[in-house]
Amino acid sequence: MQIRSDFDSGNIEVLNAGDPARVRLAIRKDFASDHFQWFHFLAEGLSVGERHGFTLENAAQSSYRNAWPGYQTVASYDGVDWFRVPTHFDEHGLHFELLAEQASARFAYFEPYLRARHAQLLVQALALPNVELLACGSSLQGRELPLLHVRGTASAPRKLWLIAQQHPGEHMAEWFMEGLIERLAQPDAELQQLLSQADLYLVPHMNPDGSFLGNLRTNAAGQDLNRAWQVPSAERSPEVLFVQQQMAGQGVDCFLDIHGDEEIPHVFTAGCEGNPGFTPRLDELEQEFRQRLVAAGEFQVAHGYPRDQPGQANLALACNWVGQTYDCLSFTLEMPFKDHDDSPQPRTGWNGARSKRLAGAVLSVLASMVQKLR
Ligand code: ZN
Repeated sequence: MQIRSDFDSGNIEVLNAGDPARVRLAIRKDFASDHFQWFHFLAEGLSVGERHGFTLENAAQSSYRNAWPGYQTVASYDGVDWFRVPTHFDEHGLHFELLAEQASARFAYFEPYLRARHAQLLVQALALPNVELLACGSSLQGRELPLLHVRGTASAPRKLWLIAQQHPGEHMAEWFMEGLIERLAQPDAELQQLLSQADLYLVPHMNPDGSFLGNLRTNAAGQDLNRAWQVPSAERSPEVLFVQQQMAGQGVDCFLDIHGDEEIPHVFTAGCEGNPGFTPRLDELEQEFRQRLVAAGEFQVAHGYPRDQPGQANLALACNWVGQTYDCLSFTLEMPFKDHDDSPQPRTGWNGARSKRLAGAVLSVLASMVQKLR
């Protein structure tokens, strides 16, 4: 058997692939950082009809150890249809297996969103009559960082910002953006309502270097971008600096930062309740957004992060920094690596398609609330 990871978002180290029933592997650390959790590799030379076993032997030392209990690895024969395979975790690692139906298969932490698809998504978006490339930043390694502007019809529109995949291993975030852009291509009454009062500003992928390098958490300098919003720098976080400069030029009336969570098997949001500038108005907006999203899509409010104490928010996070700076509704939206246990789908778990549908629901919620946002 041959194990390869020399491609976009590939990450694996082969310890010993001599026994196909127990292939010994390890996850590589993020480039320039000690974080690790994301993996993605191709196994070739599988024996069709036979069971193959794989172990990620350093899983227990990964960034989020609690990510593994209850987690099922994703696999695909064609890179299009991804399904979960039997997986269990113990102190010796993350073990998973595949009864091979074909001679090669991919395995990953989550259905990957690749750079080639990102390029197609941009073409698709820019073909829409009301979408323009407003500006294009550059990552540390020189990958492009496009900012799309979706023009509505209002003379003084609300400015709604959505950014995705600051954490490069959270591939569900760009699937979400693809769902959003696909819905923009099919304007219905709700969408027209939204665009009659708002413009959208979209950064489909904040951390292209990290994703390409197969990182979980950081960019090419080893920087966690979602801890860089208070003091971004050209040397360590030009991706954040670019978006902040563009925000300063355009203004912000609503902000959604799209992420994936390793541990919690639910879709949820984290808000700005710990910001010094949090007000009853923002509290009401947060509650209304959450309630409407429960009704509109795969979302819930019972599970999530502990709430920040008043005034104790970490303003280095995008959600808090933007909410504080622009006095606006501002959320981190988290989708699971596991499944949304409120409506489990064992074959796929949470996946790209469900991330895309959630984006459609979020647009509906924003359409219903757009008047109140400022
Ligand atoms: Zn994240």
